[in-house]
Amino acid sequence: MHYLHLSERWISNYLKIDNVSIKLFTIPLFWPQRKAMKHFCICLFATLLARQLSAQASFQITYTGFTATQQAAFDLAAQRWAAILQSAVPIKVNALLVPLPSGPLGICFPNGRKEFAAAPFSGTWYPTALANALSGEELNAGEYDMDIYFNSTQSWFWDTAGTVPSHQYDFVSVAMHEIGHGLGFVSLAKVSNGEGSLGLLSPDDFAPLTTSFPWPDLDSLPSVYDRFLVDQNGIHLIELTNPSVFLGQQLTSNELYFAGPQATAANGNSAPRLYAPNTFSLGSSITHLNESTYPAGHPDELMTPFVSKGKKVHNIGPVTRAMLADLGWKLNPLQGIQAELTNHRLAVFPTLTHGPLWLHAPYRLNKLMLVNVQGQIVLKQPAPRQEEPLFLDLSALPAGCYLLVVRGDGGQWTGRVAKQ
Ligand SMILES: [Zn+2]
Repeated sequence: MHYLHLSERWISNYLKIDNVSIKLFTIPLFWPQRKAMKHFCICLFATLLARQLSAQASFQITYTGFTATQQAAFDLAAQRWAAILQSAVPIKVNALLVPLPSGPLGICFPNGRKEFAAAPFSGTWYPTALANALSGEELNAGEYDMDIYFNSTQSWFWDTAGTVPSHQYDFVSVAMHEIGHGLGFVSLAKVSNGEGSLGLLSPDDFAPLTTSFPWPDLDSLPSVYDRFLVDQNGIHLIELTNPSVFLGQQLTSNELYFAGPQATAANGNSAPRLYAPNTFSLGSSITHLNESTYPAGHPDELMTPFVSKGKKVHNIGPVTRAMLADLGWKLNPLQGIQAELTNHRLAVFPTLTHGPLWLHAPYRLNKLMLVNVQGQIVLKQPAPRQEEPLFLDLSALPAGCYLLVVRGDGGQWTGRVAKQ
């Protein structure tokens, strides 16, 4: 039993300021199993401590059409996700670099399962990567967790560091985006002839593209992501008649939100706004954060529907992380920050502190700030423009989890630290 889901980034003629942008796209499907019980923990800090004991996620990637350099770029994208997620089961990715019709950048088809014993919700499709993580065992032996196609005819920037030329798309950024869909950032919504639906997608919607795993009958059931969709009045879309014209109106209302408790907390106590344009765009609508709410330069721009040439997005923002946590992922922020920052030779210690926090990098740090789970900046200061360890005192701050944002000569990094 599986489910699958598809996400992608389509090229469009959408103009974004002065640059050609890409429309990012996502679509899914799934498969059945059984339910368990729902459990949400709003106390992020408490969950952080408990989750330190779990295993950091790992990826197993099968490449088709990739050179060693190109594989290294995809590897980095996977490492960025692995650093923040926990799973005892390797995440299996089928990555293909091939010519694609109609000029999309890439497309992700997530595999899926429902009704497995550890599923928090019954009647709900989960991406297999998450289903496996929740179950602690592999539910889809012999199948990939996601197929990701990348368009070999596009002009890609394959380097993992440096400035992206204005005429190229940054591959690592697009790969991170697509993997995000494969991990569960995906809706099963569709609007056809004015009628909106959840869980009525079929392979025909994406032909001639196919998946390496069976595409199940979605049974008009939502994805776990869909369970958090609410309209401007706070009405959950899964409560509406499916399919229906009214559901279609909500899906194209331009007023659609993700009402997960952790995502809401990370978004300043406001449910994150999703991309729901008045004209439904299959694979782009619903399944992304709203472009204008999280524009280029925003910490959470990774999962918005458009990306431009010359743009690099290698960070997974706090709202995006919290949305994944609401879906059921166990996050690994403390190890995540260490892994991310160590990769860039920036040391932060300790990441669980009563007050003192030290930062050191073999280059100049220019600026840093701490952001709380409400999205408020609680500490902001310029860093000494010299290569010396920087001391921060967090003793006056309330206990909890904070997002650390550091800017230096080598770029910008984000990660999490916890105050006891
Ligand atoms: Zn997308």
